Formats: sequence, C-alpha cells, structure tokens
Amino acid sequence: MKKRLLQYIKSFTLWELLGGLMVTGKYFFKRKVTLQYPDEKTPNSPRNRGIHALRRYPNGEERCIACKLCEAVCPALAIKIDAEPRLDGSRRTTLYDIDLFKCVYCGFCEEACPVDAIVLTRFQDYHVENRGENILTKDKLLAIGDRYEKDIASDRAEDAKYR
Ligand code: SF4
Ligand code: SF4
Repeated sequence: MKKRLLQYIKSFTLWELLGGLMVTGKYFFKRKVTLQYPDEKTPNSPRNRGIHALRRYPNGEERCIACKLCEAVCPALAIKIDAEPRLDGSRRTTLYDIDLFKCVYCGFCEEACPVDAIVLTRFQDYHVENRGENILTKDKLLAIGDRYEKDIASDRAEDAKYR
C-alpha cells in the first residue's frame, strides 16, 4: 500500500521528469565533449586505416609492379588485379579494383606491398551513393593517391619513426 502511494505521489509530482532535468542541469555547465562533425574533427593517427590509394613516384610513374602480393594476402578477397607487360618490358596492372564492401581495413595489403604502392590513408570521410561506387578502380585509386600524396608521405615518415 505504502509503495503504491509513493508511486502515485511520484507520478503526480512528475518526479522522473525532475530527475531527468537534474541530470541535464548537472552537465549543462560542464566542459562539452560533443564535436560538431564535420566542422570539428577528432585528431587521428598517421596509422589510421581510411580509404585506399595507389601511389606514384615523384616522376609520375606508378609504383605498383603488379606482383599481386596484396591480392594474395587480402583476407577478404577484396582486391582484383589483372596485369600485362608493357612494351618496355615492365609489368603494370591493367585492372586494379578494391571492393570497399568486402574490405575489412586490416592493412595487410599495404604491409605486403614491396614498393609502398597501395596504402590506406588516414582519410575516412567518404561515402557511396550509387550501385557500383563501392568498387575503387585503378584510376580512382591513383587519383586519391595524387590528391593526398603529400599527406601520405608525411604520415608514412612519421610512422617509420616508431618501427
Ligand atoms: S585492408 Fe585488408 S581487407 Fe582491405 S583490401 Fe587491404 S588486405 Fe584486403
Ligand atoms: S600494390 Fe604493391 S603488392 Fe599490390 S600488386 Fe602492386 S606492387 Fe604488388
């Protein structure tokens, strides 16, 4: 009976609502931890595994030598490569696709690459809107590499200090 009476008084005085407002009031003047993304961002590590990129040498030549080690090591079978020798005898890829829906961002591909061609950048603000855009083609990967090369190079130099 006493319990029911107490419940009745609590519901009549909006006790739960007051409790909630007390919690709001308690945190109202505390330091805010919420960031206004995407205008504000948390710092991220040079080792952060974001979107992939294919890199070039400073002379513009693509680094990838089509050894297919990244394709072999990928646990998610997300990488697909075809290759042919060029007229000058060098081997280059004719197709290099990464399926972002399959990728688990383990970083094994960049670890396996002998020439630092495929890398996972620290950039993770990307999305797809249409069917098929989850496939990163060679052209797209090279374009990402070209766009972020300066950042990629400095991230890898920073990372190398701790290896
Ligand atoms: S990060 Fe891992 S899962 Fe993704 S493509 Fe590279 S090896 Fe495959
Ligand atoms: S990205 Fe690196 S590991 Fe993959 S095929 Fe090219 S050279 Fe080989």
